[in-house]
Amino acid sequence: MRSGKALGLLAATLFAAHLQAQPTAMDPATRQLAHDVFKQLIEINSTDSIGSTTAVAEAMRQRLLDAGFAPADVVILGPNPRKQNLVARLRGRPGTTLKPVLIICHTDVVEAKREDWTTDPFIFTEKDGYFYGRGTQDMKDSNAATAIAFIRMKRENYVPDRDLILALTADEEGGKSNGVDWLLKNHRDLIDAEFVLNPDAGGIITKNGKPIFLGVEATEKIYADYRVTATNPGGHSSLPTPNNAIYHVADALSRLEKSPFPFELNEVTRAELATRATLAHGQQSDDLLAILKTHPDPAALHRLSANPVYNATVRTTCVATMMSAGHAPNALPGRAQANINCRILPGHSQEEIRQDLIRIFADPTLTVDFLSSGGEVLGKGSDRVAPAPPPLMEAVFKPLRETVQTMWPGLTILPEMETGASDSVHTTAAGMPSYGFNGMSIEEGDERAHGRDERLGVESYYAGVQFAYLYLKAMTGGQ
Ligand SMILES: [Zn+2]
Repeated sequence: MRSGKALGLLAATLFAAHLQAQPTAMDPATRQLAHDVFKQLIEINSTDSIGSTTAVAEAMRQRLLDAGFAPADVVILGPNPRKQNLVARLRGRPGTTLKPVLIICHTDVVEAKREDWTTDPFIFTEKDGYFYGRGTQDMKDSNAATAIAFIRMKRENYVPDRDLILALTADEEGGKSNGVDWLLKNHRDLIDAEFVLNPDAGGIITKNGKPIFLGVEATEKIYADYRVTATNPGGHSSLPTPNNAIYHVADALSRLEKSPFPFELNEVTRAELATRATLAHGQQSDDLLAILKTHPDPAALHRLSANPVYNATVRTTCVATMMSAGHAPNALPGRAQANINCRILPGHSQEEIRQDLIRIFADPTLTVDFLSSGGEVLGKGSDRVAPAPPPLMEAVFKPLRETVQTMWPGLTILPEMETGASDSVHTTAAGMPSYGFNGMSIEEGDERAHGRDERLGVESYYAGVQFAYLYLKAMTGGQ
């Protein structure tokens, strides 16, 4: 995924006017390399249906070997020949006591049909100041940027103050061979780290070409599906009874609609809303400050909750997404079912939310089942609680502030809770704090990840490539 949580409220162009991207200061040879790697990656089809992440892994492995990496430090592995992953290690100072940092980048892309696109999605096309192709936003741009940073550091004989691990992985967007999950379960030693960087999230949002903020995903909500079922003996529809399966489910959904989950903040959403208050103005800014107080103002919370992004930031959400019921127009329904999709705040378990749903529905004739990600009916949900996020790590944010100051002086850094989910869900669950950001800029409203005519500004790309290099050096003690 790559989702810019742009709010359309950012009337911040006023103070952003002085923010001009600094020259990317990349020499022509590096710029050419950046172009060639991006082109190579876009033109390797890595969709689940007919593509191969193995081809991506092999191409990047060759480039890293050419830059001087030892074969033992650039390994390809995975559960299935078409869905291999690459794990590369840039060795840190000998004897360092610092644990490695892991960078995860998924190499698969969402399906793209030639007939839906203006250009061929698997031909790297430069047009009107943009690079077009499937994966230009999500996330072959960052695959390239990170691989190029590794290549440049190796060529310079740069020695970081700890190991840097790059994992280029399969099946984030779909498929059955999620590389991060597989590596954690089968080769934890290869990717074990103090913390994780995942450029699949965050990034810079611009408005009229001016950077407004650089988002940093610092925690994620947890995905869960539940199925509510009413069953009934049924009968002839000419003789209705009050006990009707469709009415039972409809009543339950109606109660759900009127029962928002409680307001709750964590370290990340506090920082996010405080920063958003500086980007917003007027009533919205006041309201944001009012809900951050020890006793949040209910009126302010009510107004902000009307905005889907703020609403999803301050509470667990559960919403009806599918329904099926009945078997004939002239029969009382024997069964009615609805799917409830929940996005759960960190600190709560899937089973806890199932119990909440049962309480909200308040109808003992209904069954409420938790469904696995594969749609399997599991009954009870997991009791495992994703820990609430810890304070933001200075080991991540100090070099980030420095690098942002170098490239985009004065640009706001916005910590965010992702309301969707990325591969960070696996690394977070494995106990590795995970942060999502990158230096690519996307204009507000031009998020095309997963969509047609996906594109990235040419200069945005080169700035993002430079950012990845400068940041990884700043984060590991380099200049
Ligand atoms: Zn993605």
